[in-house]
Amino acid sequence: MLDTHTAAVEQRVSTGSLPGWQDVDALVRDAYERERDDRAGDVARYIPSLATAVPDQFGVAVVDVMGGAHDVGDAWTLFSIQSISKAFVYALVADEVGHDAIGERIGVNNTGLGFNSVMAIELNEGHPMNPMVNAGAIATTALIPGATAEEKWSRLAAALSAFAGRHLAIDEAVYASESQSNDRNRAIARLLLSYGRLDDDPAEAVDLYTRQCSLLVSAHDLAVMGATLADGGVNPVSGEQVVSGQVSRDTLAVLAASGLYEHSGEWLFEIGVPGKSGVSGGLVAIAPGKGAIGTFSPRLDAAGNSVRGQRTAAHLSRVLGLNIFASRSAGDAAVEDV
Ligand code: GLU
Repeated sequence: MLDTHTAAVEQRVSTGSLPGWQDVDALVRDAYERERDDRAGDVARYIPSLATAVPDQFGVAVVDVMGGAHDVGDAWTLFSIQSISKAFVYALVADEVGHDAIGERIGVNNTGLGFNSVMAIELNEGHPMNPMVNAGAIATTALIPGATAEEKWSRLAAALSAFAGRHLAIDEAVYASESQSNDRNRAIARLLLSYGRLDDDPAEAVDLYTRQCSLLVSAHDLAVMGATLADGGVNPVSGEQVVSGQVSRDTLAVLAASGLYEHSGEWLFEIGVPGKSGVSGGLVAIAPGKGAIGTFSPRLDAAGNSVRGQRTAAHLSRVLGLNIFASRSAGDAAVEDV
């Protein structure tokens, strides 16, 4: 189990909204200071360009459903979104193809295995299982409507930009580096094809997926993107309805089950809100109806999750009262409210 550094931190219980502005501001700063000197974990090395990340960079952002933002440290530093893109591409595709079709075709159950596991595909007769592992993400990306790869890409890039409320550009160096080293993802796509689980050309599906992983975001962007899912699909900064409320709900359910790879159970046990991590060090944690936390810190644990990101989210979940499982007795609440 990850030591979240929160043994002595009291869990506040949700009141349905975030604490007042000044309190949130102070708590976000405090959360950043607590983890600032933490050096646990290591940067991802299996994609050559990610090995050059500056390991000590650290940014924290919280964006609420009214569009208010609290940004500390390297909250505006850009990095490739990597796996966090899976959450938002899933929302885009679910919005297009519908609840039942996507639930059946891609699935919503955790594999219990690593994010790029081939064995998980074999064990499940080619079913990708969920959209947050590479197999499911590649199959999801292949479902984006469009006659050509470029049309699909335009749709994908426009949707992720709408979630962020600004145009997202590609990190060409990361895209080139991952394109040269993604043999495993290409093998996964061909395996899906062999099981009849992919309608598109596998090379094209992997290329689109690799491009989506190379989009540049900041911790602040991640918080805005997450706050859009927390706000019934409406970007609280731009006011744009990016996906439906139902799709936001479904996406958060999928993240709760599988957002932190095979550590999703531990994440939910410690932090208690849906989240998604990526191997470049980004992390988003979403409190439905309240807002989202975005963090950036490239040192990862063995499953590929940012260590400081998880610890910061754990702390903020407690002090901001985000954990969706925490309650207090209705009797106690009535006495306090008198
Ligand atoms: N582009 C990365 C890959 O396919 C994303 C992995 C991740 O962030 O988990 O390996």
